[in-house]
Amino acid sequence: MRIGIGVLRKVLGFSLLVLASMAQAQEKEANLAFEISDVIVQAGETYRGSIHVPAGDDEIESKIPITVHNGTYSGPTLTLIAGIHGSEYAPILAMQYLARQIDPTHLTGTIVIVHIANLPAFVGRTIYFGPNDLKNLNRSFPGSLNGSVTERIAFVLTQQIIKRSDFVIDIHAGDGNESLRPSYSAYYAEAGGEEVIRLSRRIAIAFGLKTIVLFSGSYDSVEDAIYTSSQAVTLGIPAIDVESGERGLIDGQYVDPITVGVINVMRELEMIDGSPESNENSLFISDRVRLKSDHNGIWSPDSLVKTGDYINAGTRLGVISDYHGSELETITAPESGVLLVFIVTPPINKGEDIAVIGKLSAERDL
Ligand SMILES: [Zn+2]
Repeated sequence: MRIGIGVLRKVLGFSLLVLASMAQAQEKEANLAFEISDVIVQAGETYRGSIHVPAGDDEIESKIPITVHNGTYSGPTLTLIAGIHGSEYAPILAMQYLARQIDPTHLTGTIVIVHIANLPAFVGRTIYFGPNDLKNLNRSFPGSLNGSVTERIAFVLTQQIIKRSDFVIDIHAGDGNESLRPSYSAYYAEAGGEEVIRLSRRIAIAFGLKTIVLFSGSYDSVEDAIYTSSQAVTLGIPAIDVESGERGLIDGQYVDPITVGVINVMRELEMIDGSPESNENSLFISDRVRLKSDHNGIWSPDSLVKTGDYINAGTRLGVISDYHGSELETITAPESGVLLVFIVTPPINKGEDIAVIGKLSAERDL
């Protein structure tokens, strides 16, 4: 993996600060052993292994590879989840890097790294859906042990990972068919109650990306909270989403913002020394407009349209044709805003997103 200069600089600073923190070690409270699934990780130690996802009627079992760094000193449990969507690779590679860099002997609190939540989708190289049951893991929470394999993965994640956490960061990218810019963090501005919202917002800002999205919606029950982070906040656990990466790409420009952002959050939560490098002038996006296809067919995106650009309502985005090439519909932007997500490969299906447009918040410092 190519590591950008920015990350090297920051991680070097991170290591030096870890050394500096040793001087203050006597003041910190010793940590306890950390239990997760059927594993006990002693203070100051690292566990590398997997959590088992049992077979159901489909006779398909799976596993969730994790690394747990249980710090020497007592503090919060921060869980990082990658690979809810198995073809979003930048988050998965960022977890590989972070798992090697974090030293539990100099850590306050506990880091749980889920390397690849949806292993069937990663192995099967599918986008959106698991290859066995064609279900979207990020619509399958809280999951069920009696369900299909995607639902059983959601259940194990909820019961054994999310519920063991004080903070959750669920990390995504544009999927294999999606352009996504800029990288952003996101939190639920209305779900989970005042304190959960306050803490979620705090880590969303500390992550340090210039763009921050406010998710709308709240949930009356955990059964309604079908997204990973919505499940967490509905359980009362502060959580954010991060989106960095696109189209299966693994460049440092997508991976580095994730590693730097996690280090920023660890600093914000005083798990390691140092101050997060947050943005002074973050751009808040208060609402997202999803443009969906009315057709099954072949999508031809306009080559002039780029994610990250501000587009005006009425901007031509592309054309949907039938499978013989006859035009079905010219697609234009329904509203003005930042084009956050844009489908850039030919398959398009009725009801699926073509584009997601972020509307800028009137209040920059909500
Ligand atoms: Zn995703």
